[in-house]
Amino acid sequence: MADAKPLYDTYNRVPIVFERGHGVWLETPEGERYLDFAAGIAVNSLGHTHPHLVEALKAQADRVWHLSNVHEIPGQSRMAERLTEATFADKVFFTNSGAEALECAIKTARRHFHVKGQPDRYRIVTFEGAFHGRTLATIAAGGQSKYLEGFGPKVEGFDQVPFGDIQALKAAITDSTAAILVEPVQGEGGIRPLSNEQLRELRTLCDRNGILMILDEVQSGVGRTGKLFAHEWAGIEPDIMAVAKGIGGGFPFGACLATANAADGMTLGTHGTTYGGNPLAMAVGNAVLDIILDEGFLTHVNDVALVLRQGLASLKDRYPDLISEVRGTGLMLGIKCAKSNADLVQAMRNEHLLAVPAGDNVVRLLPPLIVTAEEAREAISRTEAALDLLSRSGTAN
Ligand SMILES: *Cc1c(COP(=O)(O)O)cnc(C)c1O
Repeated sequence: MADAKPLYDTYNRVPIVFERGHGVWLETPEGERYLDFAAGIAVNSLGHTHPHLVEALKAQADRVWHLSNVHEIPGQSRMAERLTEATFADKVFFTNSGAEALECAIKTARRHFHVKGQPDRYRIVTFEGAFHGRTLATIAAGGQSKYLEGFGPKVEGFDQVPFGDIQALKAAITDSTAAILVEPVQGEGGIRPLSNEQLRELRTLCDRNGILMILDEVQSGVGRTGKLFAHEWAGIEPDIMAVAKGIGGGFPFGACLATANAADGMTLGTHGTTYGGNPLAMAVGNAVLDIILDEGFLTHVNDVALVLRQGLASLKDRYPDLISEVRGTGLMLGIKCAKSNADLVQAMRNEHLLAVPAGDNVVRLLPPLIVTAEEAREAISRTEAALDLLSRSGTAN
């Protein structure tokens, strides 16, 4: 593509242009329709151009677009009140992205021990396969060499242990450990969930060692797994949590949530942002909450998830040579491939179904949460067509 030249070459782009979207569907300028089970990687939680979100954004656009955080910003307190009421948190800091929400989470944990007179307690333990963003601190937290290579010294203070290995984690905790940081369900890592039992063990471990539990729910949060936040399935509460993606429904929006105790070091002047909590973002975020917090919404997510899950399970039975496992919770599902996940994503795209590749040879299905049972069945039949073609081209070789 000629017009791609002036752009950084950091993305391997799919050669399809989408001009408009509605609900779970995207459309090319030629009018070809695609079923969107990628949702901008779990961002378009309410699908494309949801009327309630469009109305909220347009109404705010006519009032005021931007104000510095030296002013009270319309919608910020309301958004924060609703988030704290619905979660473990007492305090919220708004950002523009997931990585910034994680930066705030990391800074919050470090400052907590700083003001407690333990400035040497700043290290954070994370799991291998994690993904926390692409800033210098979050690539250090994620620990993946493919993202760290060539960017100079890795930010100090992150210790990694094998995924889900509680014994290794115990051994990694020292007097300089401030927190554990994990995704309840690894997204980029390949829809790898921690069990409820493991999450509870982590909580106990944090309590016993007097350290903070930070959850990265940037991908798993905001209804994605069928609870408002994935950790609720385990009946635990973190001290700090990073949120983004689905909470903005497509508008750049992140948040760091914390208990009053964990956030006690984040005093006047210790942190800030120009755009975080911007009036446009707040208008859209509050509109997203209007729908997701509505009674019955999560029941819908769980009902459709069951249809999708069962459909995938039957595909696994019929194509054992191509699918080795179906995993995940709610509408955060992963197909672990026996052959190449890239080939399956491509074959699905040929059937006009969008999905997302992930680590561990997985294909992720992350549809908008408003997806209907009928659309879920349509996705299954398109996936079946893709698998069928792959299995026949497999035997031809
Ligand atoms: C996407 C993602 C991030 C980073 O979010 P950005 O908005 O891209 O900075 C962090 N953590 C998890 C779990 C994610 O899925």
